[in-house]
Amino acid sequence: MAGPETTIRKHSKTKPEVQSEDNPDPAHVALCLDIIESLWRQESTPSVASGEKPLDGLIRTVLSQNTNDLNRDRAYERLRRLYPTWEDVLEAEIKEIAEAIKSAGISNIKAGRIKTILETVEDVFGKLNLDEMKEWDYIRARDFLQNLPGVGPKTAACVLLFNLDMPAFPVDTHVSRVSRRIGWFPPSASAESIQASLEEIIPPKRHLGAHLNLILHGKNICRSRKPECARCPIRHLCLTGKETAGS
Ligand code: SF4
Repeated sequence: MAGPETTIRKHSKTKPEVQSEDNPDPAHVALCLDIIESLWRQESTPSVASGEKPLDGLIRTVLSQNTNDLNRDRAYERLRRLYPTWEDVLEAEIKEIAEAIKSAGISNIKAGRIKTILETVEDVFGKLNLDEMKEWDYIRARDFLQNLPGVGPKTAACVLLFNLDMPAFPVDTHVSRVSRRIGWFPPSASAESIQASLEEIIPPKRHLGAHLNLILHGKNICRSRKPECARCPIRHLCLTGKETAGS
């Protein structure tokens, strides 16, 4: 697999601004986020960031695919207990890794991905450590991560935001559902297009808190099956909420 050049250069962490006519009104987004933030109180402070090393965060995020946080964490903790260093994991057989992470589901696939990721990281960095990526610019870091097996835009964005302090905006099922219902995006909008748009219009310093608050809003009020619009503090700003109130 083609990896990035191995020479590490110092770059800005920001990415080029791209204006799109399809983006929602930034003032409307900011107002909704202000209200949601006052409800769920997740702010973009360093104490909210994970503090986890980038490679640890990457492997934990790969384990999180198609499972819940509890099973992901069980699998991760067991893997680290059985194989305390990433060098130990790299030396293990794929079937041994799969056995260690079985609580996360599709463990054979995830084990193969983890092994290939570790091999690639060792090839590119000469060690099993991604800390040097903190000096990369956003685009380079994103492209490197998305070239790894099993790492799509959402997984890459999680590592960029939580582990590398870069201005990504991960869009999971809750963020995409709430964003579409509010009317920021059409129902057919893809998660990738929502991510690109929110990364443009939400100031980077708000990304972490906004991401967490939208997830909490989606889990607790704007739930998939039965959104509780009647008790939602942004219903007067929300396309779906206004329709519900008028029905
Ligand atoms: S008003 Fe209803 S649809 Fe809109 S964000 Fe709130 S709960 Fe979701």
